Amino acid sequence: MASLTAPTGQGGEVLLWGITGSGKTEIYLQAAAFWLAQGRDVLMLCPEIGLIPQLLDRCRRRFPDRVLSYSSHLSDGERRQTWDRCRHGGPWLVVGTRSAVFLPLALLGLAVLDEEHDPSYKQEAPMPCYHARDVARYRARQAGAYLLLGSATPSLESWRRCQAGACQLLRLKERVAGGQLPAIRVVDMRQELASGQRTAISRPLRDRLEAVCGRGEQAVLFVPRRGYSPFLNCRSCGEAVMCPHCALALTVHRHHNSGARHDVLRCHWCNHRQPLQDRCHHCGSRAFKPFGIGTQRVVELLQQQLPGLRLLRYDHDTTRGKDGHRRILEQFARHQADVLVGTQMLAKGMDLPNVTMAVVLAADGLMYRPDLRAQEQALQVFFQLAGRAGRGTKPGEVLVQTYAPEHVVVRSLVEGSYDRFLNQEMESRRRHGLAPYVRACLLRLSGPSARTTANGAALLASHLSPGLGCQGWTVVGPAPAPVARVAQRSRWQLLLHGPEGPLPLPSGQNLRAVLPRGVDLTIDPDPMHL
Ligand SMILES: [Zn+2]
Ligand SMILES: [Zn+2]
Ligand SMILES: [Zn+2]
Repeated sequence: MASLTAPTGQGGEVLLWGITGSGKTEIYLQAAAFWLAQGRDVLMLCPEIGLIPQLLDRCRRRFPDRVLSYSSHLSDGERRQTWDRCRHGGPWLVVGTRSAVFLPLALLGLAVLDEEHDPSYKQEAPMPCYHARDVARYRARQAGAYLLLGSATPSLESWRRCQAGACQLLRLKERVAGGQLPAIRVVDMRQELASGQRTAISRPLRDRLEAVCGRGEQAVLFVPRRGYSPFLNCRSCGEAVMCPHCALALTVHRHHNSGARHDVLRCHWCNHRQPLQDRCHHCGSRAFKPFGIGTQRVVELLQQQLPGLRLLRYDHDTTRGKDGHRRILEQFARHQADVLVGTQMLAKGMDLPNVTMAVVLAADGLMYRPDLRAQEQALQVFFQLAGRAGRGTKPGEVLVQTYAPEHVVVRSLVEGSYDRFLNQEMESRRRHGLAPYVRACLLRLSGPSARTTANGAALLASHLSPGLGCQGWTVVGPAPAPVARVAQRSRWQLLLHGPEGPLPLPSGQNLRAVLPRGVDLTIDPDPMHL
């Protein structure tokens, strides 16, 4: 606590790395109590609206009359009310999602980001594109306040700051209530294929689901969201097609140009291009195609193979509308289904004692996502998901299906060791010149016509290249965006990357002046997705 309460007036930054159930929230609350008693405001952020009610309850019990909430869940009027109230009559404790970081608190003493690694802290669109962690750091510095980052699986960005001495590391390695981590079992899908099993549901998975649900317990089954950026991997040997220059999977680009199809593989970091191949370079197999299966298809497969099972789908389609998430989770909590099949959303904050099994249907879908932080985010989600199994008194189990069981992400999950992964991944990113060792900025352009937009991107590139080049920055592209056309608008992008430090970019106004009429520009510093 001393590292969060020293009244030097300078504040500081602390990474609280604590395993699930190690009591991180209690530390947030104690630090908040100290700063509220000093008459200073406290900001407590969590990545998802779904996590707010629980945290809000705890805060209100501890600090009656001092707590305000702020999230996109509230009406405009309610948000304006919080905006007005938090300026006077403090100190306040505000619990909110990322946009709460902009609230005009009078005298900030402490800013907390729970689950600081969560990509939901980044706003990618619309402008302004920002990361709540960066804004919180800026505000804490301005106010001489403390920034407290909490996570069971810290981001590489925060880990790097610890190594550089800019952030103090605190670790919690024990669970407060004891309890055991679930057993983790890996199913090698290459062997399933070799023995003639061509379905996404392996035999061990079928058997375990039958056993668990037969005992009257429940399972969650996680299907990675089908990405905008499909990649190629080999179902026989598990290899994905990677960029020869970077540690990134190549993305399949399908373009239709005057009737003809132009399929290429493209690296989103360095713009390397190569033709689409139809067999694996490692083993020659033809079981080689873009990766991905949707939740709906998985539900169909399960229905065919395990007809007695009661299934519930939890994804963007089924959770639409106000309270959509809560409605489905409540149905599941009342045991109206045996298995909940869903995307990433499943991993977050669900606390159901009857769930004793968590399944990762296709780990490869996250591990090889053609993105800068694919491996890091895959492991973070898997650990979170593993935390969902066996929350009650019954022991839990996790089953992971993958074509690459020897992959560092899978091995780290099995060993329950995020440490080893962190060090290995940091080294790989350093070697390949990737974030957090370099900075990047994505300029996204959109316009009504493909030609004007591409033209604008080219103009922007030649406008920027000389100035950026002098400062060690590279301009990559222009390249078509992963989804080249959305809502009648054509989309192109320019990627800039260069050394750590401030972005040497002219003002947005200056950049927009270069563009043809009707072409919009979004500036996304340190992009999460390429
Ligand atoms: Zn192969
Ligand atoms: Zn590359
Ligand atoms: Zn692409």
